[in-house]
Amino acid sequence: MIKDNFIQIQSQIDELSQRRTRLLAVSKTKPIEVLQEAYDCGIRLFGENKVQELVPKYEALPKDIEWHLIGHLQSNKVKYMAGFVSLIHSVDSLKLLEEINKQAVKNQRVINCLLQIFIAQEETKFGLSEQELTELLTSSAFAKLQNIKIKGLMGMASNTENMDQIRQEFRNLKQLFDRCKKDFQAENIDFQELSMGMSGDYLMAIEEGSTLVRVGSLLFGHRNY
Ligand SMILES: *Cc1c(COP(=O)(O)O)cnc(C)c1O
Repeated sequence: MIKDNFIQIQSQIDELSQRRTRLLAVSKTKPIEVLQEAYDCGIRLFGENKVQELVPKYEALPKDIEWHLIGHLQSNKVKYMAGFVSLIHSVDSLKLLEEINKQAVKNQRVINCLLQIFIAQEETKFGLSEQELTELLTSSAFAKLQNIKIKGLMGMASNTENMDQIRQEFRNLKQLFDRCKKDFQAENIDFQELSMGMSGDYLMAIEEGSTLVRVGSLLFGHRNY
């Protein structure tokens, strides 16, 4: 079943994006065997939202997987994944970035990060405002961080049936991404990735410029929490 879903989703992504957008398989709550099945279908990018789930899955599965952390991250958890995580999508403060940098130094590597931007019209979603983003990227504390690289932005649209609203939120995020790419240039900044779109809206997100779609339930079926 995963195989059929994967082939269909991947071909739609490839067609619409001319192979410019990558599929991140969001495997949170799914057991190792299900991830192995996805791996056997050819999937190599997996996204988890909890560090305590990410680490055992990393340990159990083949080492050519790219692991992404997509959920809200607490500073005290960074150390457990700092040695292997490929991209952290959900960075939303300078304090967290400083901790990621510190753990990256310990592991003698550079950790790629996205800054999560608040784009929804809801109180519950995490993320930076545009002003907070600018303050962060222009701060002297940020300039000192040599073991992180800001690869772009991530956003979650409102949880609504209103597709026009979702499209507008994606469009706003893409415009912000383009401005940042032009305005902020530094050793620790390299704007390449725009992470937006989930099962319900990934095709629209690609139309609006997403480079990385985070698809869970459409690929793996519904989650039982
Ligand atoms: C769970 C999750 C997804 C995937 O959601 P689906 O609707 O199942 O595709 C994407 N992004 C984040 C941040 C998530 O937590």
